[in-house]
Amino acid sequence: MKEETLKTVIEVLQKSKQIAIVGHKNPDGDAVGSCLGLFHFLKNRGFNVTVVMPNDFPDFLKWLPGCDTIINFEKHLEEVTTVIENAEVIFTLDFNALNRTGGLGEVLEQAEAKFIMIDHHQQPDDYAVATYSDVTMSSTCEMVYHFIEKLQGKNEITPEIATNLYAGIMTDTGSFRFPATSATTHRVIAHLIECGANNSEIHQNIYDTNSPDRMKLLGVALNNMTILSEYNTAYITLSQKELDDHNFKKGDTEGFVNYPLSIEGIIFAVIFIENKQESITKISFRSKGTFSVNEFARSHYKGGGHTNAAGGKSDATLTETVSEFISILPHYKNALNHVS
Ligand code: 5GP
Ligand code: MN
Repeated sequence: MKEETLKTVIEVLQKSKQIAIVGHKNPDGDAVGSCLGLFHFLKNRGFNVTVVMPNDFPDFLKWLPGCDTIINFEKHLEEVTTVIENAEVIFTLDFNALNRTGGLGEVLEQAEAKFIMIDHHQQPDDYAVATYSDVTMSSTCEMVYHFIEKLQGKNEITPEIATNLYAGIMTDTGSFRFPATSATTHRVIAHLIECGANNSEIHQNIYDTNSPDRMKLLGVALNNMTILSEYNTAYITLSQKELDDHNFKKGDTEGFVNYPLSIEGIIFAVIFIENKQESITKISFRSKGTFSVNEFARSHYKGGGHTNAAGGKSDATLTETVSEFISILPHYKNALNHVS
């Protein structure tokens, strides 16, 4: 974090008491973990803090310390609007543009509070008085750790904080295997364990709580996988019916898109998920090496993210979206065959 950013953060916090912390729509482990980690830290320092999410988060995160205090905008619109209106400072965590919060974005745009952004996504928007953005970071949770460190708070990391930050780093790094996992990430993780994060228990709570329906849905997804060897690409589709047949719950498809990347030679993996309620096809992209799915998602699917993990959406049907995708691929043939 730049010195002037830190200076602004300290000045803003000195003058404030009411704080709101906001994560992105469809919050993942990093969004929930970073918001709750920062929540405990600021609360313990005497601030009035509320964590707000645009919509619900997956059940496999519903044990994280403090998660029962989170207010969901989709369910409690008025309560969240009041929190945002009354906030003097709003932290936005794990996203880079207010529209990543869906309808909550309009409420945020009206807010009088000063914004502080902590995020590791590419091309951050310029809405905050203090922007702590670092695209080389493994996760926003790792950044919250460094943020606490900069505020001289390393000795204040409680087991609650450590557990939340550990969970977010673990999920965003694919259990410490994605390239953004650095030696520093491991040092942070080691310290979080010393501060009371129970690494084995956290892993079990997140990864070993599958429902039989979810495992069967994974079977369907893998069965639907199509491999396009010419483009070193594989994609998966899931229709609304397939989701309904397996009592789909938020978070059930998390991680499915990574499976095709484990096939030798595949460097680009995509999952298309039909969402009839929102009349969209939600898309997740993953890649290996230099092929930027951030650029791909930005160019074609109103999305974005990181070089190797991004998302977007299409207003077309599932079948149309897949056909369009296949028609785009020839433009990337060269890039997909010369990845370093
Ligand atoms: P996932 O595919 O796991 O939902 O998301 C992968 C990465 O892309 C995450 O860092 C997420 O924040 C980002 N992402 C997912 N969907 C979108 C989207 O619709 N727009 C943008 N800008 N980023 C997205
Ligand atoms: Mn993240």
